[in-house]
Amino acid sequence: MPVEEAGLPADLLTHARAAKGFMPEDEGALLHRWARERLREGPVLEVGTYCGKSAIWLGGAAREVGGTVFTVDHHRGSEENQAGWEHHDATLVDPSTGLMDTLPVFRATIAAAGLEEHVVAVVGRSEAVSRWWRTPLSLLFIDGGHGAEPARADYRGWAPWVMAGGVLAVHDVFPDPADGGRPPYEDIYLPALASGAFTEVEVLGSVRVLRRTSGDAGDPLP
Ligand code: SAH
Ligand code: MG
Repeated sequence: MPVEEAGLPADLLTHARAAKGFMPEDEGALLHRWARERLREGPVLEVGTYCGKSAIWLGGAAREVGGTVFTVDHHRGSEENQAGWEHHDATLVDPSTGLMDTLPVFRATIAAAGLEEHVVAVVGRSEAVSRWWRTPLSLLFIDGGHGAEPARADYRGWAPWVMAGGVLAVHDVFPDPADGGRPPYEDIYLPALASGAFTEVEVLGSVRVLRRTSGDAGDPLP
């Protein structure tokens, strides 16, 4: 039975707007809508938690329809979050180590939103987690490292776990290099289409939504 379309509940919208992060509202609403549709079939997994902004959109769906959202991050920030780079936030540096640490802010954000029961943080490098992951995913949202190597590792490590009929959503896909970095486009989006396992179903902003139209979770992807 299709889930009727509805926006993020108003209480959560306030939290999503207040959260630190990189998720425009229209793209967040898209994630929420797809998660609502998919969550009954199995867990959702996000790569790239940061401070939990997109996790509120996904977790809101879990609060409404049930199910669990896993969100994976080493919480040390991507290259562009480090000191001297464009997306650096000095308040996210742990003074005792001098390293970025977004985990405390994530934790406070999800607790304040009342989503601790629905959003499960997995703390570690994406590849170290995906290597041991065996659970079919109803929806995979890749929004992690934007270098070529992390993007390739995310595709290789996570995309095979999208179940038949499941959805792969990729953030920061910029076909025109003038708009942003290329790896999510070249090393995730294009290989997913070229694999023959995924078919594009929606485009919004920098988000691309692909559905797994052949094969099933655990099948290797070409
Ligand atoms: N979805 C977030 C934004 C994610 S930013 C939002 O809604 O605001 C990208 C995140 O990916 C950063 O927090 C960074 O620490 C994480 N990241 C980058 N490379 C990673 C890797 N190889 N493994 C785990 N996390 C990684
Ligand atoms: Mg992003």
